[in-house]
Amino acid sequence: GNTNVNTTPATEIDELAAKDQKHVWHHLTQHKGFETTTPMMMVSGEGLRITDDKGNEYLDAVAGAVWTVNVGYGRERIAKAVYEQIKTMNFFAGSMGSAPGAQFAEMLIDKMPGMNRVYYSNSGSEANEKAFKMVRQISHNKYDGKKHKILFRERDYHGTTITALSATGQLQRKDQYGPFTPGFVEFPHCCEYRSQFEDTTDYGVKAALEMEKVILAEGPDTVGAVIVEPITAGGGVITPPAGYYEKIQELCKKYNLLLIVDEVVCGLGRTGTWFGYQHFGIKPDIVTMAKGVASGYAAISCTVTTEEVFNMFKEDPSDNMSYFRDISTFGGCTAGPAAAIENMKIIEEENLLENVTKMGEYAMDRMLALKEKHAMIGDVRGKGLFLGIELVKDRETKEPMDESVSVAIAADCMKNGVIIGRTNRSFATLNNTLCLAPALIATKDDIDEIMDAIDAAITRLS
Ligand code: PMP
Repeated sequence: GNTNVNTTPATEIDELAAKDQKHVWHHLTQHKGFETTTPMMMVSGEGLRITDDKGNEYLDAVAGAVWTVNVGYGRERIAKAVYEQIKTMNFFAGSMGSAPGAQFAEMLIDKMPGMNRVYYSNSGSEANEKAFKMVRQISHNKYDGKKHKILFRERDYHGTTITALSATGQLQRKDQYGPFTPGFVEFPHCCEYRSQFEDTTDYGVKAALEMEKVILAEGPDTVGAVIVEPITAGGGVITPPAGYYEKIQELCKKYNLLLIVDEVVCGLGRTGTWFGYQHFGIKPDIVTMAKGVASGYAAISCTVTTEEVFNMFKEDPSDNMSYFRDISTFGGCTAGPAAAIENMKIIEEENLLENVTKMGEYAMDRMLALKEKHAMIGDVRGKGLFLGIELVKDRETKEPMDESVSVAIAADCMKNGVIIGRTNRSFATLNNTLCLAPALIATKDDIDEIMDAIDAAITRLS
């Protein structure tokens, strides 16, 4: 139950909703539909449960709509740590250090063998932009600007700013926002369920070799890096096929490319390891992260590099242009790392990685049973508490289900007190995957409640 009592009087909430309707421009929202209704206001949260302005309680199965609130709502110790920190020293930017910045960097590096430097900023998009700037500067300083291209994968998402979007493989996200930043080149996806090949034997290796074709077509001496999501999130919860990342790593070595792993969603325990890439035995050069770093209690993102990458920016101290000439103003906010320290301690002290693995297995069993029962479920995928249910019109042809069906399922679940997610309306294959990413503290009962709601919704809509 929700122990966080909402103290804002009902009339005041109504007034606030009216103000919102009048002045706030919401994310991802067609405001035409908002002209006649005031928006739902979320007023409090505790654990996995959130309460709206009418006093309705929901089980949030997507951790804040966008898989962010990893440790759940209402964590007083994070709020306290942020309060104490910002009361003492809230901000300073540039080359000065801060106590929480230093402490969190050490804690983070401890979870990432092989990595050694943490660069702070404040969103996933920005963390990726930093990685791209590093690649471009290395290209200038070591390869006469030639090795500047960055490869990205079809169906992956890397952020909302124009350059992060330039590195994104989802058409619907990009449409109408071009022209894009030059030098970003797409290679094919690795979703085995929608294999590009008739024969799917060794699919992982085959899919990875599609990247090599692009490297060769572009010219290996022009390609500096590749960016991937360890498990594609908004593009359809795509778990990579066996052997895929081993081959990608091999190709990066062969053609001297930096491997950038975008852990914005998978980072900080979502899949049962600290980071998603740690399932696949690969060694990235740059790792970016945001959402789960402080579970949405503060805005913080990190671009983490190996010492080798870091050292490339101080090779020639006489050259005043070789250092990383980048700043993120709010990368100097101490609230971020102060929240991140407590967030990581919670994951550790409450053994949440173990819980994620256990609950993920249980959830997968229940999803497989749902697939047995409902013909419209074509595929179930995921790792840990990061799960996807792909809907089809026909299992044989795999014809994608109409988007209206996933919209109706999500609406039905919401009516019954469970908030689930859907992947982006990018193109036919993407618009029909239901997504689940509850807080890492989810119990068996929570998983049952989520799966029962989906089961009932599909039954009603079949
Ligand atoms: N990378 C991935 C994999 C993401 O899912 C997102 C956000 N959904 C981003 C980057 C961008 O993060 P932000 O919205 O914080 O800029």
